[in-house]
This record gives sequence, structure tokens and C-alpha cells, in this order.
Amino acid sequence: MTKHLFITGGVVSSLGKGLTSASIGMLLENRGLSVRMQKLDPYINVDPGTMSPYQHGEVYVLDDGSETDLDLGHYERFTHSPLSRDSNWTTGQIYKSVIDKERAGCYLGQTVQVIPHITNEIKDCIKKLEGPDVDVVITEIGGTVGDIESLPFLEAIRQFPLDVGRENCAFIHLTLVPYLKAARELKTKPTQHSVGQLREIGIQPDFIVCRTEQPISAAELGKIALFCNVPEKHVVEERDADLSIYEVPITLVERNFDQMIVEKLGLSQAKPLDLTKWRELLMRLRHPKTEVTIAVVGKYANHKDAYKSIYEALDHGGIANSANVRVLRIESETVVREETRALLEKVDGILVPGGFGDRGVEGKIDAIEIARTHGIPFFGICLGMQCAVIEYARNVMGLPEANTTECDKDTPDPVVCLMDSQRSIVDKGGTMRLGSQTTYLLAGSRSAGAYRSLEVQERHRHRYEFNYEYRDRFIDAGLIIAGASPDGKLVEVVELEEHPWFVAVQYHPEFKSKPTVPHPLFRGFITAAIRHRHGLKPGEESAIVNDDF
Ligand code: GLN
Repeated sequence: MTKHLFITGGVVSSLGKGLTSASIGMLLENRGLSVRMQKLDPYINVDPGTMSPYQHGEVYVLDDGSETDLDLGHYERFTHSPLSRDSNWTTGQIYKSVIDKERAGCYLGQTVQVIPHITNEIKDCIKKLEGPDVDVVITEIGGTVGDIESLPFLEAIRQFPLDVGRENCAFIHLTLVPYLKAARELKTKPTQHSVGQLREIGIQPDFIVCRTEQPISAAELGKIALFCNVPEKHVVEERDADLSIYEVPITLVERNFDQMIVEKLGLSQAKPLDLTKWRELLMRLRHPKTEVTIAVVGKYANHKDAYKSIYEALDHGGIANSANVRVLRIESETVVREETRALLEKVDGILVPGGFGDRGVEGKIDAIEIARTHGIPFFGICLGMQCAVIEYARNVMGLPEANTTECDKDTPDPVVCLMDSQRSIVDKGGTMRLGSQTTYLLAGSRSAGAYRSLEVQERHRHRYEFNYEYRDRFIDAGLIIAGASPDGKLVEVVELEEHPWFVAVQYHPEFKSKPTVPHPLFRGFITAAIRHRHGLKPGEESAIVNDDF
């Protein structure tokens, strides 16, 4: 029988609920259990695909093309839980489906209400992940207890034990225990209130995980236990990780949290933990053999979560190379400034990520020119690849007005244009070329070498493409078309031969990188950055780093 773990959050948002959920998933999986993960988001958008990264951070794309919350990125980086459309539900989706059913006559005669129709719909979504081979479903509830929008979700999980048995469910509440500098004290009151609110709804948490900057004393843990009606050992301290988010599972293991969950849910089939690989990756983070500085030149550089998966994947590339990756976030609009250009000329690698709209595009193109002309390793992703194509057209092929029609509809040289399949589409949600698609790579290309394969599956999210009509002119001018869709029509990868490492891809490799399995292109990019920093020739980097992770 599948067991259920529900994770709620209190006091404030941005507590790292997704990370804690992913860490718990990783630990249970490590103990030989089969885990499924999902997130329920209380906002009304059907999915986050239509939200600005400023509002919601990165939109994380799954193999099946669903556009999801960035916490699913943590789930994939930490666990092997297969994720799909069924792994992220929003209020918008739930209501849409209930309203569609009502119109189809499924509730004939009934008054359709939040309880039971919306709550039943939510419970059905949770139950979709159950299965004979699934030991635990972990369901994270977005938002903070006390928000109006999250009430139907909390009511649904309150009812859940009535359907499947209380012994098959565990509730984890994540809270903040703030430190007041002036008083030199940790404060437990917000936690008490937050758990009080949860109990008013009818949910008694089994565990309380306390996010804190400072160690929480036994007396304070005891106080939280008493006021919140949980056993003392079930109050778990989760202190801020100072090195990396990948320390979180270890912090939880040190508190015996995995074992307590196993006992609470009666998961007697659980095996002992084996964290050898995980500890090795932490060792590599703690004791890097070298360091590189990578400039990420994007339009949302100031937002910490807008390029979340890219920052993580860069770290993975660092882990693979035993290198510390220092990321310099550069707002692309500032590349016009002399001091920004001077800064870019000194970095060990330049990455231009994806994006939409014309703001900051010229700065990205300028940054790519610096990378190309100074032999600085360059990695372009999605819009970053399209900008690389424009830069080449303008500065090498003598087409000064070349552009993407996304930025200039009337450009005389639309080297990047709307895909044919997109021309008749007017709706915005879920209508791009999305999800996993096959790319055939050119034998002998840098990417084929990095992947050690001529056929790869990567995730996409775009409307515009390299304009096929210019293909031969680009090839004649020296741009290498290193990857294309199986029919050869969509260009997926471009490279430059006479450059230490210039690889730009139409897809999003960052979504498939894990700390334990760094993505080949991020690994290759960081290796190239190490060579650049130390003035090494290909192969010589092994004198500095050990690339056998
Ligand atoms: N705006 C570009 C397109 O739609 C690039 C998209 C992206 O970078 N994700 O094709």
C-alpha cells in the first residue's frame, strides 16, 4: 500500500520547502523505497508558463512538455521520481477540470462546491501517483498556512487520512524559527502560531522542521514540542546550509529524520542508507582543486531564481571537474558599459541563457561577440543560441541588420524566425514547442564528443528557430551546424571550429543535469573554462583536476 507524506509550510514563504521535500525524497529513495513527488500550487494560473520569472522564478520544463514550478527541478535533481503533468497541480487546473466536468454534466443535479467537489478533485490528483510499485507519495503544498488560497488544498489533505487510514499518512510542517539579533534570542512563537493555525484546520503535524540560522537549544526544541503537541524528537532543526543546498539531506540524516519517517509510516522494507556518492559530491564542493568565474549574461540576472537550473547545472559542471564555479550575474542591458565589457573580457566562460522579448538582447549579442573574438568559452542556451546566430550573421557574414523576428519583425535578414508550426497559434499557455525532442549530432563535433553519443533527447521551450533558408550561407561562413532535429529541418546546436569552446543549443540542457550525473555540456563547458583560466591545451586540464566523477 502506498504511504503518503504531506509537507506544508508556515510563518513565511521561501523557506526552502521544495528543497526539504526533495531531500526527504532523496533519503527515502536511498533507503530502497520507490518515491513519487508532486507539488500542489495554490495560484490560479493553470501553470507557471505564463508567469514572468520576476513573479515566479524559472519555469521548469518536463520531458512531457509540461511547464511546472521550479521546485520540480529540485525533485529531479535529488530523486529519480518520474515527473509528468501529474506532478504539479494548481488551483487553476483543479477548478478548470471541475468546471469542465460540470459543463459535461458529470455532477448533474448537484450544487458544485469547494467541499466536496474541489477537495475530491485534489484528492484524486494525489491518488493518481499511488501504485503497486510506489512506496511513498510526497506531496508538497505550496504557499504558507494561513493563505486564503491554500485552504482547499489543506482541507483535502486533512480529509486524506479518512480515505487511506491515519497510519498511512504523515504530516510534516516546515517553519521558520527567527533569530532576533537585538534580543540575542531564537523565537518559537511564530512556529507555535503557525502550527496552531494548522490544527484549527484539523491537521496535527507529526513532525515540525524548523528552519533556522542559529542552532536551536534542546530547551527550545522542547518548548516547540510541548506547544505544538508533537514528541520532542519529532522537532527537527534544519539549519541554513552554508556550503551548498546539497548539504540539506545530510543535515536531516544527522537528526535521524529519515529513520523517524520510516518508523512513522511503518516502512519496514526500508534498507540502510548509503550516502557514499552524495558525500563524495559534497567533498568535491568542499575541497575544489581550482576555481573558475562564469558570467551569466541575462535579462533576469538580479532575480535569484530566474535561472535556477542553470546555476545548479554550472555547479554540477564544477563538481564533475573538482572546480569551484563562481557565477557573475550580469544584467544584459549593462553590457553597453565599458566596465561591464572589461569585466567580461576577464572571465573564464560566458553563458547566455534563454529568454523572451527584446529587452537586453543587444547586450547578449555583444557579450557573445566578446566571447567569440577573445576565445572565451561560450555556452548559449535557447535565446542564447539564437543570439549567437545573430551575432555571427552581423559580425562575420556582413549582415548588420540581421535579427530575430521576435525583436524586429521587419529585419531584412531574419536569421531567426517564428517556427512554421507556431504561425497560427494565438493562445499563450502551453503552446510553444515544448518538452523532450530528439537531436542528431554531427560526428566529430564538440557536443557529440561531450555527450559521447550521436543522438540525444533534450527539453525544449521556444517559438522561434534558426531560419533554415540561411543554413547554407552560415555553413559557408564557417558556422558548424552540430545538431538538428531528425528531419534535419530544425537546427538544434551550432558550434565554431576555430574557438576553444563555442557551443550553443536551442534546447535547455540545464533541466537534465543532476549533482550526481552532471550534464555533459556543462561538464565540457567548465572543463574549457578551466583550460582558459590556466592557459592549458585540450587534455592538459587533467594535471589540475580529476574529471572522473
Ligand atoms: N524567445 C525565444 C523563443 O521563443 C527563446 C525562448 C527561450 O529562450 N526559452 O524561441
